[in-house]
Amino acid sequence: MHIILARPRGFCAGVNMAIEALEQTIQTVGAPVYVYHEIVHNKHVVDRFKERGAVFVDSLAEVPAGGTVVFSAHGVPPSLREDASARDLTIVDATCPLVSKVHSEAIRFARQGHTILLIGHEGHDEIIGTMGEAPERMVLVQSEEEAATVAVTGDVSLAFLSQTTLSVDDANRIVARLKQRFPAIVAPPSEDICYATQNRQEAVRRIAPEADVALVIGSQNSSNSMRLREIADELGVPAYLIDSAAEIDTAWLEGKESVALTAGASAPEELVQDCVRFLVDRFGATVEERTVRDEAMHFQLPATVRRMVADARLRATA
Ligand code: SF4
Repeated sequence: MHIILARPRGFCAGVNMAIEALEQTIQTVGAPVYVYHEIVHNKHVVDRFKERGAVFVDSLAEVPAGGTVVFSAHGVPPSLREDASARDLTIVDATCPLVSKVHSEAIRFARQGHTILLIGHEGHDEIIGTMGEAPERMVLVQSEEEAATVAVTGDVSLAFLSQTTLSVDDANRIVARLKQRFPAIVAPPSEDICYATQNRQEAVRRIAPEADVALVIGSQNSSNSMRLREIADELGVPAYLIDSAAEIDTAWLEGKESVALTAGASAPEELVQDCVRFLVDRFGATVEERTVRDEAMHFQLPATVRRMVADARLRATA
């Protein structure tokens, strides 16, 4: 068996920043630290933080007065931010800057009077956050079919925005349909689908056709991981989304000579290496890493965390 290991894979700059922000917050203020929704959509990461004193909540009402709450990488609606401030909670905002960029575009389009067609998946944390910036001006478009039928009443000017983790191909098809129906629709100034999503999708598109089967490490609620599995599948390669090596069903690999292996943007590298070890031990696999794009993106920690850490250092030296 031969493993073709995609690069880039796994953690993106936004996930690295969010995880580091939570780590530093726990270290500085001590447990418990409350996290609104999963810090990133990965079971392994969430379970590890639970052991260290993070408490994941679905409502701010679960955070006691004076508590510290971390907003996840996917962002939150402004109403939640206001609620947290009104309750005097200490807020650590670990929203990925590339998600914040889409929020800013939503605010600007709404101020300019546009109705915004937001391309994304209903119920996803990021979509809830972005829609919250201008709920009365947003219409969700989830598919090409919806782009063909979405009803816009009156003489309104339109703009569109996207979730950061969509399939590039699906989003292009949806945008093409919208432009066909509404030629004057205004596009965002730059691509909303983020660099990490695009690069991981491009890597899978390149390596999957050379493989008999594809394995994607990531959790079932990770949008960008699901898209990687779908891309391999659409290329005719049987593809499986797994949380860890423990979920590999060896029946998938019977008689297969080559495996494309990648990981979603929220999946830790140690889980990829566990899978590699499993395939090497069980099937005598050889490993070839295939670099499709180099990545050097880095986001600095949220200002609140930098301040907390600096204050703690000052106290320690006083
Ligand atoms: S996948 Fe993209 S938008 Fe999401 S956290 Fe990573 S860099 Fe940010």
